[in-house]
Amino acid sequence: MQTSSDTALRAAIIETCLRMNAEGINQGTSGNVSARVGGGMLITPSGVSYAAMQPDQIVFVADDGAWTGDWKPSSEWRMHLDIYRDRAEAGAVVHTHSTHATALSCLRRSIPPFHYMVAVAGGTDIRCADYATFGTQELSDAMLAALEGRKACLLANHGQIAFGPNLDKALWLAGEVEVLAHQLILASSLGEPIILDAAEMDRVLALFADYGKQPARA
Ligand code: 13P
Ligand code: ZN
Repeated sequence: MQTSSDTALRAAIIETCLRMNAEGINQGTSGNVSARVGGGMLITPSGVSYAAMQPDQIVFVADDGAWTGDWKPSSEWRMHLDIYRDRAEAGAVVHTHSTHATALSCLRRSIPPFHYMVAVAGGTDIRCADYATFGTQELSDAMLAALEGRKACLLANHGQIAFGPNLDKALWLAGEVEVLAHQLILASSLGEPIILDAAEMDRVLALFADYGKQPARA
């Protein structure tokens, strides 16, 4: 049975898709968005325009991958479900074909610590997962390996994927990954970026552990 909070979450998933395209970090029906719910996840339908998407077209996919109804889930449902299975802290997942992250992924390059903000993804770099055909378990396996200790990764010759505790945070992180990819491409066009060393990144990661945690918001 569909509850009112389920309806609100379906609407929030569509809103996230619209923001993803409006913010310029995705285009057309590329990309997909999901949120964890009891017993599985809610995910965007495959190949449906975000502008036309309706809450009842968002698909419930159970923990075992089963789904029913008139709308097929995103072709990338395996990546989303595997993140929820593997990472207890994940509440929402955003996959996009953002231009600069995708350009780097076509070179199969990870994002090194050329800027301290790479720490937003949880570690000292943002890895690029090995290539596999879209929608396959092989792609999901490669993604999980690249996500070890991280909340985002690039997907070779494809795009990027990010997760967070909720839709806002997952979308925010995907935006940060795109900005970092853009900055890396610009810096690399001027010369060889200076890479921050391990000791500096340890300091940054320690600072990030409570960055943004305001007493008033606790
Ligand atoms: P879907 O429309 O099936 O979600 O596919 C988009 C996509 O980005 C595939 O990788
Ligand atoms: Zn994709």
